[in-house]
Amino acid sequence: MTNIILLGPPGAGKGTQARRLVEARGMVQLSTGDMLREAKTSGTEMGNRVAEVMARGELVTDEIVIGLIAEKLDTVEAAGFIFDGFPRTLAQADALQDLLAAKGQDLAHVIEMQVDDAALVARITGRATCASCGEVYHDVTKPIPADGHCTSCGGTEFTRRADDTEEALKTRLMAYYKQTSPLIGYYHAKGLLRGVDGLAEIDAVAADIAAILES
Ligand code: ADP
Ligand code: ADP
Ligand code: ZN
Repeated sequence: MTNIILLGPPGAGKGTQARRLVEARGMVQLSTGDMLREAKTSGTEMGNRVAEVMARGELVTDEIVIGLIAEKLDTVEAAGFIFDGFPRTLAQADALQDLLAAKGQDLAHVIEMQVDDAALVARITGRATCASCGEVYHDVTKPIPADGHCTSCGGTEFTRRADDTEEALKTRLMAYYKQTSPLIGYYHAKGLLRGVDGLAEIDAVAADIAAILES
């Protein structure tokens, strides 16, 4: 059982690498961003409450995201979980440890995807996602095929996130440095932190992560 966290600012490539790991290793991706976007469209009270917070680029409450993760860990069995975009605060990190311990599990690695801010604006403003399978594209580095079909599922509808603007990115980056980056020291102290160069090409990043998982 290899459970890992992909840690990094918005646009670092967490979702892209998580999908590769799902395909290559049958691990299960748990993305709180995806779960929250799903809740947003569900018309539930919680969905409506988080929509505005997400649009601004702020973090939703620990209580909500911990609840979402707890529910998944309760109902899903996997050869390994990839936590993508969770935890984002120290309280979430503590909760995750407790939730895994209750299942008799722990974390194998926390992989910090290191990028610099200058690259993130281009990453975020060029991002598009397949509406049917979630494959992640980029206008410049991974364009949607000229025939308009998703390489992964053949789908023809692509979406851009409402919070993928330069303005919201500023708030999201500030939230990362203020609330999430303390996790780097926290996991370093636990001996779990591994760094990869997130600015390398997608295949090279995937190879670095594979090497960590094999170590
Ligand atoms: P990115 O892929 O750009 O890192 P995500 O899809 O992970 O962004 O998250 C999008 C938004 O959802 C965040 O800006 C935040 O509002 C909310 N969110 C996602 N995960 C969490 C979390 N663990 N804690 C609090 N808010 C979260
Ligand atoms: P995150 O989940 O961390 O927010 P994504 O995986 O959604 O990041 O990637 C953000 C954008 O950057 C996407 O458009 C994606 O195609 C692109 N991207 C991801 N990894 C790389 C990479 N190594 N090199 C160039 N572009 C990348
Ligand atoms: Zn697709």
